Amino acid sequence: MTDSFSRAALPQIVVLGTGGTIAGAATGDPSLPGYTAGVLGVDALLQSVPALGRLAQIHTEQVANLDSKDMTFAVWTQLAERVAYWLAQPQIQACVITHGTDTLEETAYFLRLVLDTDKPVILTAAMRPATALNADGPQNLLDAVRVAVHPAARGLGVVCVLHGVVHAARDVTKANTHAVEAFSSGERGPLGEVDGEALRLWRQPVPEAGAPFPLPAASEWPRVELLTNAAGSDSALVCCLISSTALQPRLGGLVVAGTGGGTVHRELEAALRWAEQQGVRVRVASRVGPVRGGADDGLNAVKLRVRLLLELAAQNQAER
Ligand code: ASP
Repeated sequence: MTDSFSRAALPQIVVLGTGGTIAGAATGDPSLPGYTAGVLGVDALLQSVPALGRLAQIHTEQVANLDSKDMTFAVWTQLAERVAYWLAQPQIQACVITHGTDTLEETAYFLRLVLDTDKPVILTAAMRPATALNADGPQNLLDAVRVAVHPAARGLGVVCVLHGVVHAARDVTKANTHAVEAFSSGERGPLGEVDGEALRLWRQPVPEAGAPFPLPAASEWPRVELLTNAAGSDSALVCCLISSTALQPRLGGLVVAGTGGGTVHRELEAALRWAEQQGVRVRVASRVGPVRGGADDGLNAVKLRVRLLLELAAQNQAER
């Protein structure tokens, strides 16, 4: 934990590092595509953007340094605890988190559901490693800090700032595997944009029913598995998941990325009804995109899974 810049009159924020391509380094020639995610520390990322020192007094902490495809519930618990710790300090105005793009939308939505603060939490990331000649991370970090210190960001909750666009945690999704404009907020659209020093907000995030949820301890996360409905789907996977004695913890919930508006093959559907009779909680999203209406309005399958994980963890805690 270090003070990277100390300019007493500036707002104080914290930047937490978790890894990702934004902290990635080339495995060979930087002009070639090969790199490893989660190599550089958060202090090194800040040092590559000297302009940050004119915007804020920045504290840093390295919470993890991983490729976000390998994100774990233990890291989520630790991250939420560290964000809560820093934001409870009266002098800290906001928290920026550097993250990989692969599971950014899940981490953002998880934090949105467990944090109880009106101070802004901003996740940012990059599609190109820090050592790339045309790295996008430095600009994204600068934009994220600009949002963090902006008075209008208070009350926005957890947002993601990427390629000059401000996305709500509920709506943001990775929609492209290679372009720097990799993120989309779907039909609802982004919250706003960062344009130089200006933050332009077009709308507020939608409220989250049930939030804040209790934060599960690292050992208390339930098991919720994801299935996809497709041609030929049947009852086999559901039967395996329920009857397996190898699963620890046992299956608590299933989220199905259904077809179309959330439809499921009749054989899989019959298995899901049976799973519910065994006490497994079942929720259906769509593999096409957000389904409108209902309590899960607009949540994709991975975010619906985050919500169900936290609902089940809260239920388990209440029953203990
Ligand atoms: N695999 C990387 C990660 O999610 C991809 C990225 O950050 O763009 O950590």
